[in-house]
Amino acid sequence: MKLTRFLKNGSPTPGLFLDGDTILDASGFGEDWNEAFFGHDGLARLRVWLKEQEDIAPRVKASEVTLAPAIARPSKIICIGLNYAAHAAEGGLEPPAEPVLFSKATSAWCGPYDNLVIPRNSVKTDWEVELAFVIGKHAKYVKESDALDYIAGFAVHNDYSEREWQLEGTGQWVKGKSGDTFAPFGPFLATTDEVPDPGNLQLWLERNGETLQDSNTSDLIFPIPHLVAYVSKFMSLLPGDVISTGTPAGVGIGFDPPRFVQEGDVFELGIDGLGVQRQVAVKEH
Ligand code: ZN
Repeated sequence: MKLTRFLKNGSPTPGLFLDGDTILDASGFGEDWNEAFFGHDGLARLRVWLKEQEDIAPRVKASEVTLAPAIARPSKIICIGLNYAAHAAEGGLEPPAEPVLFSKATSAWCGPYDNLVIPRNSVKTDWEVELAFVIGKHAKYVKESDALDYIAGFAVHNDYSEREWQLEGTGQWVKGKSGDTFAPFGPFLATTDEVPDPGNLQLWLERNGETLQDSNTSDLIFPIPHLVAYVSKFMSLLPGDVISTGTPAGVGIGFDPPRFVQEGDVFELGIDGLGVQRQVAVKEH
């Protein structure tokens, strides 16, 4: 299944992507794609509902609605830094000996086609296409061999980052990672059965039609099972939580001279089988 959400009368409404441009309106299921849904075996219940309702539930065209983030705002967004060797090198850093963790404010959560809002006084806003996954059930002290059982699905995430605030001040990266609209998520969450090999997915990003990032999740330094085991040593991962696996080379700060987001820039980014996002950069007033 491909879980999505779209605005109906201004409110996020759950849906399921069918073929092409068609979204099945799943509001009849009666739940949002949130912590309670994932935590109470929602995917299994949704499959049963879908079998019964697929022929009669209403449809909308994706091109005629505004997509919301593919799932409800999670309890936390944990990101992995420097998880591609070439990206670590473009920042002048060695590959890390263990995963680098940071968090992103959940208020950055937004839809896959929402405008990127360049924050006030930002001069170093940057892009990061990433494979993200969503936790399907409470996870703590998970073994690598069991890790995939804890994942509900996979999606595209653009981990927008303000490099001056991330790197040049004091304290943690969270300041540079948490701007409003800095976490577009979607266009859908593909359940694990739709993604046979998450460790071999091409991911790419174009800025104004120029390809800047083009890599494969086979280049992840720390693969997905290791990330679930590692992060769950330090905290409970709750159903619906998001882990973003890191970005490959080709971010703006990696160029010489660096390139950062300009007003009017258009970003398109995608991952094999997980759809395409598009954002236009605007300035915050
Ligand atoms: Zn990132």
